[in-house]
Amino acid sequence: MVRLRVAPAPRVEHTNGDPRRTAASLSEVLPGQVSLPPSSLPTTNLSRISHTIDVPGLGKPRFLGMSTSSLRAIIVGGGPLGLFTGHALEAAGIDYVIVEKRPVIVDESGAGILIFPHTMRVLDQLGFHGYPCRIFTRTDLTKVLFENLPQRETRIRTECGLSDIQFTESGVNATLEDGSTEKASFIIGCDGVHSRTREIIERLSMDRTAGARLQASEQMVSSFQALYGRASYLDGVEKRTFFESRGTGMTTQLYASDSVSTFALFRKIHSPTNERRRYTQEETRDFMQAFANVSVAPNLKAKDLLAKCTWSRLVNQEEGLMKIWHYDRVVLVGDSVHKMTSNAGMGLNCALQSSVLLMNELQKISTQANPDVEAFGKVSATYGETRFREVQPVYDMAAKVVRTTTWSTWGLWFLDQYVVPLIGLRRVIGSISQTVIRRGRLLNYVTREGRQGTLPWTE
Ligand SMILES: Cc1cc2nc3c(=O)[nH]c(=O)nc-3n(C[C@H](O)[C@H](O)[C@H](O)COP(=O)(O)OP(=O)(O)OC[C@H]3O[C@@H](n4cnc5c(N)ncnc54)[C@H](O)[C@@H]3O)c2cc1C
Repeated sequence: MVRLRVAPAPRVEHTNGDPRRTAASLSEVLPGQVSLPPSSLPTTNLSRISHTIDVPGLGKPRFLGMSTSSLRAIIVGGGPLGLFTGHALEAAGIDYVIVEKRPVIVDESGAGILIFPHTMRVLDQLGFHGYPCRIFTRTDLTKVLFENLPQRETRIRTECGLSDIQFTESGVNATLEDGSTEKASFIIGCDGVHSRTREIIERLSMDRTAGARLQASEQMVSSFQALYGRASYLDGVEKRTFFESRGTGMTTQLYASDSVSTFALFRKIHSPTNERRRYTQEETRDFMQAFANVSVAPNLKAKDLLAKCTWSRLVNQEEGLMKIWHYDRVVLVGDSVHKMTSNAGMGLNCALQSSVLLMNELQKISTQANPDVEAFGKVSATYGETRFREVQPVYDMAAKVVRTTTWSTWGLWFLDQYVVPLIGLRRVIGSISQTVIRRGRLLNYVTREGRQGTLPWTE
């Protein structure tokens, strides 16, 4: 079992029943890691989140809410990424509407989301204080982004899933599931792994290439399932510590804050599938049963954790790095175009970085009177090519992490049990810091005082 203390001054320890122990302070390896006073310690407790993610000048308009551009965007999907993209467009002075399929934006779905320092740094730019590594419940993160979105009553339309897209001379029309339409200059698909926006542009791209079929590498494939969940207070489990258990075909993650615990139980699927699956209660019960006696933290078995579970969902964990990222005036961001298992905690961090680059490129053309389809094509191509190149190694790393922790091959078992403990988790995390976190992008058009940690940011 690997134990990672998340805050303050986190330490990393190997406790695989192996007397060798390594300890490292994450503040030594993560850029931007800053010491915070005790009152600002990371927490997943909602009442304290409003304290720790305090927005300066809340209630006062941060970006005046005024459109300085003739552009208008339709953001498809009101998850954390769609909401973040709304904030970034707001800051760029670009008008937008968010259309969401579900009836509400903030609900109880989702477990823990690990936010790395480079993501916290961009959130800090938009007025949300950062930036060490933090774990939020997905609900809390969505709530904070939703409640601070200026003019959200008119910006967000719920129960309005995207149904189809029509292209006009000067823009796009989106047909929504309730029969209404929205007009805009362009569309940003933030509608997740089963993206309708992706389906539409894949169909159109194939029509253009005389019906060429999608290659297997262009589909989302699930090789793992995960049961996500939240549990009430767990007596005797060390707080603000991230626990991970590893085994053949299975791995578990548990993070306990002061009031709530979030967890994920992962299992390998015998035959990888590209089918969309909704699991029944019976299948979920069988899945839980298979984990019953697995240790998820010292002195805590999965069955005892699950007995305190307040919310859970069994899902397939799709993986896929798509080839088609844009078409005409439509562009995809996040899980709709680069989906990893959540085991390495890279999904949303990557998605927000994709959104940042797209926003920087869009902002450059936002003051043009009426940018044509070529102008959008250039923006989308720069964004798509750059992000494909940048996401590929992260995607490969995330795929390797879940296969290593589930001991998918003898080689990966050896790597997990002997090589990683030998070189130390600190070095592994240090390499993520060097390759991903230090290079994290900022919104070029938002100024905000930056802070440095032990390792400087690569500007
Ligand atoms: C439980 C859980 C834990 C996770 N943990 C981590 C983590 O630790 N670190 C990390 O980086 N990532 C994590 N992820 C992944 C992370 O949540 C996603 O990578 C991230 O939210 C990507 O956002 P997205 O907007 O692309 O997709 P989603 O978050 O799936 O959001 C898509 C949104 O679009 C809406 N939608 C779907 N279809 C339509 C339509 N036709 N029209 C309009 N709206 C539509 C959906 O209802 C949803 O609100 C986790 C995911 C889950 C589920």
